[in-house]
Amino acid sequence: MDKILEQLPKKAKDKHKANIKLFKKLNKKPPKHLDTLMLELHDAEFEKTDCLTCGNCCKTTVPWLNDQDVARIAKHLKLKEQKFIEEYLEVGEDNELSFKSAPCVFLGLDNECSIYKLRPKACREYPHTNRRRFHKIHAITLENVVICPAAFNIVEALKKALPIQYSEKGGKPREKFRRGGG
Ligand code: SF4
Ligand code: SF4
Repeated sequence: MDKILEQLPKKAKDKHKANIKLFKKLNKKPPKHLDTLMLELHDAEFEKTDCLTCGNCCKTTVPWLNDQDVARIAKHLKLKEQKFIEEYLEVGEDNELSFKSAPCVFLGLDNECSIYKLRPKACREYPHTNRRRFHKIHAITLENVVICPAAFNIVEALKKALPIQYSEKGGKPREKFRRGGG
């Protein structure tokens, strides 16, 4: 996994232009089955991905926390919410809350999360590749493919699974497809 993580930024950089083109096409005309397809690709990738051998998201990025996350984790730590915010969180310009630093303080040496069942929603949903209307989160996905090998693989698998008009060389989508003799 170390080698995969080491090579990932370069691999993602090489695919960056193609990924931007892909998301432009998806935003223009997403295929009807995109949500179902993303669920399939996400599940297939995570069946063979062991996050405990990786932990790169927890090591290099900080998740946002919503009010429910704060209440739940503060209670678990037996801290008043304000105290938890002061000790563990950073308050952004728009009052958004995130952990102060990466690697996450709750990440163990074995890549286990010590608050796994209570972890923030943003951690549970990372890397958001099974999200409905996936094409709408292209900005965050372009960042995630640099960090998460599973997200990178899922976007590459998506390119292979989509009809030709979404490929780099694909032109204007055809309005109708005919079966048989063209
Ligand atoms: S709370 Fe857990 S899952 Fe979330 S960043 Fe920290 S270690 Fe990772
Ligand atoms: S979600 Fe991605 S970056 Fe995070 S541990 Fe799993 S494979 Fe690694």
